[in-house]
Amino acid sequence: MKNNKKTTIALMALITPHSVFADPHWTYEIDGDTAVFDGQNHWAEIIDPTSTAPVPLNYPYVECGIGQKQSPINISTPLTNQAKLNDITLNYHANPLVVENNGHTIKVNESITSPGTMYIGNILSYDEYTLLQYHIHSPSEHTVNGVSYPMEIHFVHGTPDGKLAVIGVVVQPGTHNNELQKILDNAPASVATNSPENVFIDPRGLDTRNYVSYAGSLTTPPCTEGVNWYVLTTPIEASGAQITSFQSFFTDNARQTQNLNGRVANLKK
Ligand SMILES: [Zn+2]
Repeated sequence: MKNNKKTTIALMALITPHSVFADPHWTYEIDGDTAVFDGQNHWAEIIDPTSTAPVPLNYPYVECGIGQKQSPINISTPLTNQAKLNDITLNYHANPLVVENNGHTIKVNESITSPGTMYIGNILSYDEYTLLQYHIHSPSEHTVNGVSYPMEIHFVHGTPDGKLAVIGVVVQPGTHNNELQKILDNAPASVATNSPENVFIDPRGLDTRNYVSYAGSLTTPPCTEGVNWYVLTTPIEASGAQITSFQSFFTDNARQTQNLNGRVANLKK
């Protein structure tokens, strides 16, 4: 990609799935505050008090309610439709840790100068995506046969022409995870960003051999659709203490699963 730095800055300005500073307030509660209905069943009805745009443009999260391809979803296994899906190639590497508490999640902001990349396709035809940020939900947002995992990590990627792809990795209790511990040790307790000296975070170690792919959306307002989802079906592990530690920052920061509306999730052959 030419002029990677400029492109990535432009992407980050456009794509800030968890940015809340300029956006109307919302919560993960189901119905939320009865005065303003800020819960997830009402995200579509939240009004932007600063907007002078005509209705419905001052409902900035309307897609959360009227979208037909919303995320997350429940994945029913065994999947009957196995498809010859594109390969995913992750080109991640260690970078200085920049970790943010944005009021909804703990998020690692990827380096702008040397971001990780992801290739989807084959050697003849592929899309190159830039890793923008990764963040954590507890419990998992995607469920498998109706069952959720204690955590799910989302790796958010974008292309210069605005395509989005998110890799979801579910986390099950097990062995201690060293990279996760760096995030937990340095995450601000309240809304802030921390750039500790000499701490490098490495997002590698994901299993890309099997994944489920479907067309979905951002799982936070504005719930924008057109997001290519890849949910890795092999969980990674974190210790019970690490899961409890994350839940001291955020618990129940997961959107409910959404209707499939005829969509089919494909399992990579
Ligand atoms: Zn997410």
